[in-house]
Amino acid sequence: MSGDWEFPEFRPPTRPLRDYAQMVTELEAQGNIQGLLEILEGGYPGATRRAAARALISTAGKPESSAILALLTKETDRGVKVSLVGCLGKSGDEATLPALTNALKDSEPMVRVEAAAALSRFNSETAFKLLVDNLQRKDESDDYLVRQYSADALGKMSDRRAVPALIAVLKDENSLVKAAAATALGELGERTAITALVRARHSDSHLLGADCVECTAIDEALRKLNRKQIP
Ligand SMILES: [Zn+2]
Repeated sequence: MSGDWEFPEFRPPTRPLRDYAQMVTELEAQGNIQGLLEILEGGYPGATRRAAARALISTAGKPESSAILALLTKETDRGVKVSLVGCLGKSGDEATLPALTNALKDSEPMVRVEAAAALSRFNSETAFKLLVDNLQRKDESDDYLVRQYSADALGKMSDRRAVPALIAVLKDENSLVKAAAATALGELGERTAITALVRARHSDSHLLGADCVECTAIDEALRKLNRKQIP
């Protein structure tokens, strides 16, 4: 794409940053995917490229997933990478699943988290299995965020086969992971989870007067499950 600029007057690095910010805002409003991709390809400042990558997610219309994959393989900016992974989730294109699997192992925690969130947008057996595998993941020094977001994602996927894996995660040593698993179990609406949720709830009068993230999530899940009629 180099040498053939859609916006020659904005060709970098000839303008102040605010002009580039305005350009990104306009492209986003127009849904001009090609223009946003061109910014990511070109030698624009980091802040401009990060804004363009975020705009690709929020703007109407979807970029070709092949274009996003090509950018992702050579991208080094963490913020741009996170948004490109989000774009893959928006695409819902199964051809991007190998790239998302790689992103789950990225050295940047926020890229791994975004990959787990992106997978929840796929209605796919492969994505489901990846998320279940990641619920147990402890190979990094502290990958509780990936476990937490995988539990979140599984709650949104409406596939009750995730219930046993989510119940197992109620024993996780991280409070946020436990809370996410409880919330997901409430969303999945599987009443057989009730016993495990009651058992996972703290029974002592801990944190009096304060909120316990685990018990709050468990109580909310139990409210949802108890409201549900037995079919
Ligand atoms: Zn508690």
